[in-house]
Amino acid sequence: MHTFPDAASVARALSPDEPIILNRPHAAKRAAAFFKENFPGKTLYAVKANPAPDLIECLWDAGITHYDVASIAEVRLVRGLLPNAQLCFMHPIKTRKTIAEAYFEHGVRTFSLDSHEELAKIVEACRDPETGEAATDLRLCVRLRVSSEYSELSLAAKFGCDLTEAPALLQAARQHSDWLGVCFHVGSQAMTPFAFVQALDRTRAAIAEASVVIDMIDVGGGFPSIYPEMEPPPLEDYFAMIAKHFEALPIAYNAELWCEPGRALCAEYSSMIVQVTKRRGDELYINDGAYGALYDAAHVNWRFPVRALEDDLRDGLVDFAFYGPTCDDADYMAGPFSLPGDIQAGDYIEIGMLGAYGAAMKTGFNGFGDAECVIVTDEPMMSLFTGDRRREASDNVVSLR
Ligand SMILES: *Cc1c(COP(=O)(O)O)cnc(C)c1O
Repeated sequence: MHTFPDAASVARALSPDEPIILNRPHAAKRAAAFFKENFPGKTLYAVKANPAPDLIECLWDAGITHYDVASIAEVRLVRGLLPNAQLCFMHPIKTRKTIAEAYFEHGVRTFSLDSHEELAKIVEACRDPETGEAATDLRLCVRLRVSSEYSELSLAAKFGCDLTEAPALLQAARQHSDWLGVCFHVGSQAMTPFAFVQALDRTRAAIAEASVVIDMIDVGGGFPSIYPEMEPPPLEDYFAMIAKHFEALPIAYNAELWCEPGRALCAEYSSMIVQVTKRRGDELYINDGAYGALYDAAHVNWRFPVRALEDDLRDGLVDFAFYGPTCDDADYMAGPFSLPGDIQAGDYIEIGMLGAYGAAMKTGFNGFGDAECVIVTDEPMMSLFTGDRRREASDNVVSLR
């Protein structure tokens, strides 16, 4: 991958007429180092947020040793890149073949589940094919359903067992696992640390009712990044709240605490250069959109930071909406995105904060989807880990003490 100082120099050097993904390994490493230093437990990377091999290797170099994988393709991908990584299969619904391949061929031992059916499937799939003996090294995690009310994107409807079912499932899983965990996910981009308090309260109720020994609590992902008009409290506040409520749980004295962020580790990793292909009033037609890296901008009206890359634009900022390149009316991003009023066809724009659920969402629909990747060394357009935000965070933590 070529390295450039910033987006403007990429646009000048390449005059690209397809989108270009700009990667910032230093930003991903900084996020990983922050979690390693400050989260009071182990940090897994949730691969679905961005499975780019360069990113996975960069997180490994920054000391992330455990990976939350959710499909056999993710298992194969990470195992191929990192022979020594710990892979944790945290999707609670898997096929028997998938479980068997993960267990026998890729060394996966940690599996999540939210039903008795899944428990039986895991136990059967991991039996020794010769002797029929059950595996004795499974590490099982029961996924609890928790509320997503404090998060921008819900993960509450689909997975997780209810509090009424959890005690029996924990007891059953304990029979098959020397190491038993509880996991949950509060929803993505949780805008307050209280999201985790509520979930840990449920966890406490489930464990107390089940009265089984719990060896690990996995508080999932959901740690926020920063976007226009979505500025969360400092991550230290989340970590402090989680630590406090974790310590009060009725669990083994040496129980581990895990988290599995996707977004917070990689949001700052990528931005993208797009080109304006046409202007119609305050609508800009650009060459990436709803079927590309701007999926969330189109489907959940997410605002991403933008900046024009030409230096001859003189007008003040105007609010624009974007149309993507496909022939589908739904390929529309309402924004608003503020750009100079004299921007026109041919001009380049950098769209920031696309490292999580951005670059990963690109499809080839309608023939649009190619994007070259380059490395840039400048800072991301927004950051939770630099400058003012860091100073505010440390003031805040000091004042909390
Ligand atoms: C998506 C997902 C994550 C990552 O969530 P973020 O909001 O990106 O931190 C973690 N764990 C599980 C089980 C997930 O499905």
